[in-house]
Amino acid sequence: MSRDIQYSIVVPVYNEELVIQETYQRLKEVMDRTKENYELLFVNDGSRDRSVEILREHSLIDPTVKVIDFSRNFGHQIAITAGMDYAQGNAIVVIDADLQDPPELILDMIEKWKEGYNVVYAVRTKRKGETFFKKQTAAMFYRLLRSMTDIDIPIDTGDFRLLDRKVCDEMKKLKEKNPFVRGLVSWVGFKQTAVEYERDERLAGETKYPLKKMLKLSMDGITTFSHKPLKLASFAGILMSGAGFLYMLIVLYMKLFTDSTITGWSSLIVIQLLFSGIVLLMLGMIGEYIGRIYDEAKDRPLYIVQKSYGLENRKLYRDHRMQ
Ligand code: UDP
Ligand code: MG
Repeated sequence: MSRDIQYSIVVPVYNEELVIQETYQRLKEVMDRTKENYELLFVNDGSRDRSVEILREHSLIDPTVKVIDFSRNFGHQIAITAGMDYAQGNAIVVIDADLQDPPELILDMIEKWKEGYNVVYAVRTKRKGETFFKKQTAAMFYRLLRSMTDIDIPIDTGDFRLLDRKVCDEMKKLKEKNPFVRGLVSWVGFKQTAVEYERDERLAGETKYPLKKMLKLSMDGITTFSHKPLKLASFAGILMSGAGFLYMLIVLYMKLFTDSTITGWSSLIVIQLLFSGIVLLMLGMIGEYIGRIYDEAKDRPLYIVQKSYGLENRKLYRDHRMQ
């Protein structure tokens, strides 16, 4: 495969018709400044608006624009994965389509890359224009994840980052069905460094990450990198049976050696609810793992590409994900 493309910019796109034009222009401006070859690889993740038409028009006049069009919405993480599968550059940059990640920062990343770093990730020092709830839950999540895993997953870091070709090739070997890309990059290792930035507001449109998708992402992060929730079940079990045993002794003593009868419907119902709650929670947690094992066992392709633009003259990259 030829490697004459220096930089691949991977942009996942889901219903971004309001911003995609501006994003294209900003990226173009920044990348032209490098004076090196690059490609802008947009992955259309099943948008239901005009995003893909706009991108297609660009690809017709601008040979640096390439578009992969999914057959439906597969999700942000999978869109990024597909972008990495198809990217041909010596360095690959993943960036959101909504200009919350400033394209100008790519130049700083490239500088670090040229200094010899294999991964340059962008750490958010501030997040603007996002709800208090989102900021708080995100901050909590990154810290929780970090405390649960042995892998050094940087805090407050999204998927905005530069990967060296070597790292990207290693990432391609991972066959996870519920990928948590930012964690996997840490898992792969190599020489990593950070650049800091303030996260802007979304240029236009709404977030494409509703609570449901955020929860899915955090569960993916935790389950792929940690068994701690499962261990928590045995820990809670030991604790609960210990407490139960002690209480049994007290009850027996009162029954056999005292006259006091034990009253308390309310305490019974509270204990009942509390404990069945814990048990169901643990079952659910186990279910999360089993569901993911099931996804792996089925081994379906990770995504389906229905069309591509700007990639016609190129033998499409194929790997285990796309057999
Ligand atoms: N995105 C995607 N598929 C999805 C959801 C989001 O490709 O199912 C893209 C979206 O177009 C954007 C990026 O992922 O380029 C991040 O999404 P968003 O900006 O909505 O997330 P937020 O910044 O609010 O966390
Ligand atoms: Mg965004």
